[in-house]
Amino acid sequence: MVRAIVGANWGDEGKGKLTDMMSQESDIVIRFQGGANAGHTIVNHYGKFALHTLPSGVFYDHTTNIIGNGVALDVEKFFNEVKDITSKGVPMPKILISDRAQMVMPYHVLFDQYEEERLGKASFGSTKSGIAPFYSDKYAKIGFQVQELFHEDTLKVKIARVLEQKNVLLEHLYHKPAIDPDELFETLMRYKEMLEPYVCDVSAYLWKAIKEGKNVLLEGQLGSLKDPDHGIYPMVTSSSTLAAYGAIGAGLPPYEIKTIVTVVKAYSSAVGAGAFVSEIFGDEAEELRKRGGDGGEYGATTHRPRRMGWFDCVATKYGCRIQGTTDVAFTVIDVLGYLDKIPVCVGYEYEGKLLDDFPTTQVLEKCKPVLEVLDGWKTDIRGIKNYEDLPENCKKYIEFVEQHIGFPITMVSNGPSRDDIIYRESKLK
Ligand code: GDP
Repeated sequence: MVRAIVGANWGDEGKGKLTDMMSQESDIVIRFQGGANAGHTIVNHYGKFALHTLPSGVFYDHTTNIIGNGVALDVEKFFNEVKDITSKGVPMPKILISDRAQMVMPYHVLFDQYEEERLGKASFGSTKSGIAPFYSDKYAKIGFQVQELFHEDTLKVKIARVLEQKNVLLEHLYHKPAIDPDELFETLMRYKEMLEPYVCDVSAYLWKAIKEGKNVLLEGQLGSLKDPDHGIYPMVTSSSTLAAYGAIGAGLPPYEIKTIVTVVKAYSSAVGAGAFVSEIFGDEAEELRKRGGDGGEYGATTHRPRRMGWFDCVATKYGCRIQGTTDVAFTVIDVLGYLDKIPVCVGYEYEGKLLDDFPTTQVLEKCKPVLEVLDGWKTDIRGIKNYEDLPENCKKYIEFVEQHIGFPITMVSNGPSRDDIIYRESKLK
């Protein structure tokens, strides 16, 4: 059985916690897209960890953790992360890396920085991890797959060819030093040594594992609204954040994905530039930011303060639909316990008309939120295990959201750790 965990919003919905929880019953956990540009925060008995590239199953000894072909693999960062968790007492996890995964080159990171510098005020708010230059090169067919490291002669020829183009840009567009082909070759040989024990034909491995009835978990990064096709283009990430892409980025049949758990946060946050209709500012935003998540809403990778907003039914309904959601996990609701009144965005106003379907970017930029205000519950709900025991107004909030988004909320997360989860029957399932 294959299950996917993905986000409905702009990322940071709490997928890490859900993946960590669901990894418990998984034999295999796979990252299928993205790179070290975002992070999951996981709190468990070993401590608190920010994972960027490692699949969230690394804390269990029964799981095999896979880097799928769809990932942007930053080799140095990957092994630093392994070192980091093992130095904190986590046993060395079982890892497999797709022979078709492509590697983030040191120059991808440089190009990301140089391009954001060049754009100045018009920049994308990139985390400068090299992700956009990496995926551009992948589709321009000048990327480097892991398997290429094992064919040194052709690798050398390719390095020379690719650097011819890169060095022109470095010199004439960015006015920066050129890259030496021999140095890059040495770096790649170092990567080869690091990767060799883990390289695997992942799609063949998964085909067999699925036939044997293994439980497979696809772990998404970011959320629907950052998808390059269905998100708020161009303020998106460079690889698909949708469960459907799990089939491609891992190499398994699409019909095997039976469960799609879409993680939805009880309020909104976003990083980077782009339209954010239910955004709030000033003290109101700062209060929510400070109380948000587990220790405040600050980027797991960049530590940047996140942009904050009220829950957005329009964006979330769309985010869930485009994922093909079978179950919604509604997270971080405990954070809202301080509010007397909780505004929720139930529609968008655009040129005097009311929209309840999420529009394309140019329209979105001009939308104003239509808010409905619900009563708060003014108590700490952490530690509650049964849905019935939640305060009445908290249940009303959950049911209000479920009705507006039209997808079943079957899990409610009321705290950062594995056990802070309430299962719920939904009429929509
Ligand atoms: P991801 O990128 O979707 O995995 O999101 P993050 O890892 O950034 O998760 C957001 C933060 O919320 C992390 O610090 C989590 O530990 C924390 N978190 C997850 N679920 C809950 C919850 O239900 N309540 C609280 N208070 N924090 C949570």
